[in-house]
Amino acid sequence: RIVVVGSINMDLTTSVPRFPAPGETLLGTAFATTPGGKGSNQAIAAAKAGGDVTFIGAVGDDGFATQLRSTLADAGVDTSLLRSVNGASGVAAITVDADAENNIIVVAGANASVTELTEHDLGAIASADILLCQLEIPLATVTAAARHARRNGTVVILNPSPVQDLPEELIGSVDILIVNHTESTQLGSVTDRVPYLVTTLGAGGADLRERDTTVHADSPTVTPVDTTGAGDAFTGAFAVEWVLDSDRALHFAAIAGALATTVNGAAVSSPTRSSIERHLPK
Ligand code: ADP
Repeated sequence: RIVVVGSINMDLTTSVPRFPAPGETLLGTAFATTPGGKGSNQAIAAAKAGGDVTFIGAVGDDGFATQLRSTLADAGVDTSLLRSVNGASGVAAITVDADAENNIIVVAGANASVTELTEHDLGAIASADILLCQLEIPLATVTAAARHARRNGTVVILNPSPVQDLPEELIGSVDILIVNHTESTQLGSVTDRVPYLVTTLGAGGADLRERDTTVHADSPTVTPVDTTGAGDAFTGAFAVEWVLDSDRALHFAAIAGALATTVNGAAVSSPTRSSIERHLPK
C-alpha cells in the first residue's frame, strides 16, 4: 500500500489573447476547472498504475471540495483520511496567453492546514509499503511523516517540488529522491546524500543512481500534446512498481511519464496499468 501525504488544488485556467495590464478588464476566450495539486495528481497516477493508495491532505468547505474529493475517490484512491476544513480549498489561478506563456497564482488554502498527523494517519504510514510526499504542504508535516515512516520501515519517496532547502531530518529520512533536471541542479549536493536518486530527463527518459551505479531507462518515443503532469505520472507509477518489481520500476515509470504527455491535462492524463504494460517487453 502507498500513502501519499500532500496537496490537492483546483486549477482555474483562463485563456486570454494577452495578459491584462493593472486595472484593465479583458475578455478571456476560455475557462476550465481541473483538479490538481502534486499530491493528488501523484495519488491518482499511482492508483491508475495499479496501486492501493490512501491520500492524506485537506480540502476546504467550498464547492471545489466536493469535486476534489470525488476526483480522488473516482480514481480508486482511499479518501478516509482526507480532512475537510473551514475555508477555501487550495486553488491555482492560471492565465495562459496566445503564445502559451502562463501566469500562475497559487493559494494554499486548506493545504496550509495540514499541520498535524492524527493517530490514524500515523498508523496508515507505519503499515504502508511506501510513503510518497512532495513539498506543497507545510515542510514540518512532510518531515514528521517521513521520520515516522523511516522508524517503521516504510520506504520514503520524496519529490521535492517546489524545490526548497530541505531540513537535515528530512534528508536523513528519505530513501528515494525523485527530481527533474532543474530540481537536481538546485538541490546540489543533497542529491548525493540519499540511498537512491531518480532523475527524470524529459524525452530522454530517466536515471536511477544507487551509490556508484547508475542505470538508465529510455522513454518510448511519443508525440507529446501536453507535458503537464508527466512528472507526476512518472512518480506515481514508480512508487507502485518499486513495491512489485523494483528492477523494472524505472522503465515502467518512464513509460507512464511518456504516455501522460500524449493526453491533455494533469491527473486525468496518467495512464492505466494495462496501457503501461503494453509497452513493456514480455
Ligand atoms: P517534469 O515534467 O517534472 O519536468 P520530465 O520533463 O523529466 O519531468 O518528465 C518526466 C517523465 O515523463 C520523463 O522521465 C519521461 O518518462 C516522460 N516524458 C516527459 N516528456 C517526454 C517526452 N517529450 N517524450 C517522452 N517522454 C517524456
